[in-house]
Amino acid sequence: MKEKKKLSLPAWIVIALVAGIVLGLICYFAGIADFTTNYLKPIGTIFVNLLKFIVVPVVLFSMIVGILDMGDLKKVGSVGWKTVVYFLVTTAIACVIGLLFAKIFEGAGWFPTLALEEGAVWEKATSANFMDTLVGIFPSNMWQAFFDANMLQVIVIALFFGGCILAAGEKGKLVADFVGSAYAVIEKLMNFVISLSPIGVFTMMAWVVATQGPSIIGALGIVIGCAYIGYVVHAVLVYSLSAKIFAHINPLKFFKGAFAAMAFAFTSTSSAATLPVSKDCAHELGSDDDIASFVLPLGATINMDGTAIYQCVATVFLAALCGINLSLGQMITVVVTATLASIGTAGVSGAGMIMLAMVLTQIGVPVDMIMIIYGVDRLFDMGRTCLNVTGDISCSLCVTEWEKNKAAKKAAKA
Ligand code: ASP
Repeated sequence: MKEKKKLSLPAWIVIALVAGIVLGLICYFAGIADFTTNYLKPIGTIFVNLLKFIVVPVVLFSMIVGILDMGDLKKVGSVGWKTVVYFLVTTAIACVIGLLFAKIFEGAGWFPTLALEEGAVWEKATSANFMDTLVGIFPSNMWQAFFDANMLQVIVIALFFGGCILAAGEKGKLVADFVGSAYAVIEKLMNFVISLSPIGVFTMMAWVVATQGPSIIGALGIVIGCAYIGYVVHAVLVYSLSAKIFAHINPLKFFKGAFAAMAFAFTSTSSAATLPVSKDCAHELGSDDDIASFVLPLGATINMDGTAIYQCVATVFLAALCGINLSLGQMITVVVTATLASIGTAGVSGAGMIMLAMVLTQIGVPVDMIMIIYGVDRLFDMGRTCLNVTGDISCSLCVTEWEKNKAAKKAAKA
């Protein structure tokens, strides 16, 4: 008997996307958009609710696990802190680049505002100023932070607990084991929710296109274009410069050497799955193997420049769709939250989209808006993963060079 071939999740997502658009167009032109609002949108809402429901535990546990892993940083000393500083600085630059291009596109009027129905489909967020945001980061009640899904507060809680578990040493081991085990369970839950995404994509895409008309499809093309401009500018600017200035490698040689990993990341949409190829590329480009073995796995877990750009662009786009113009305080919040969110993003396909919920929640953009871009998330994901992996290889080369210089200086002194 012939074995039935199972379609992969990405294939199902594409089918759901196309089917949703087709049904949406039919309903739009037939003047029966209400059908999608009454019967399809509620199903999409269930999917979005599941996303909202897992975002707090995912952020809490993945952050604590990340900090516990960082506890080993002390062991690797100077390589450890140089790596983390490189990751943080490049991710923050990525956020600024993403925000800049998104604001240019928004300013040019290329991000439309959705025609919201009477009775407001989404409430508009009130803009907060920077000092309020700063004070608001620190929770006065832990449970309230979870209850309100206040993501910056959840991160602060994770930082405190992570740090204190490490400080407690042997006595904190039980809690550390509990967190590790809880994260394994949450990861399973996350995979389950992601596996339901074709249903969410189909119903929400049909509803969005039926109620907004064909112009929304063009808007999606534009926002993808905006993210890709950000990816390319970041690669050319940050990685070329760091290859040239810090690693003393010709940028063209760098990109040629990293190409295999970039191509693999682009198609697999997973930094973690690309690890063996990245290691090969880093080795060929002259990275120290010990340093690569430390930097690359850590980078695949916490260094996500592409994801940071995507989160900033998507946030401005979705905010614009619901008529929210971000204040300066909110933009700073986006940079801080997107940097942290990208650190918390797992190096697997589609994880950046779950963390986007955290950025949106933080600045008051309804999480339901994610469904508008969810259908095309794979297209964003290919580019962002490619950038994420390139950043890891670039870091490995820079740290190798810095360590070489340090050793040379030491030898000269002796
Ligand atoms: N797919 C990305 C990666 O593995 C993470 C993300 O979804 O942003 O690097």
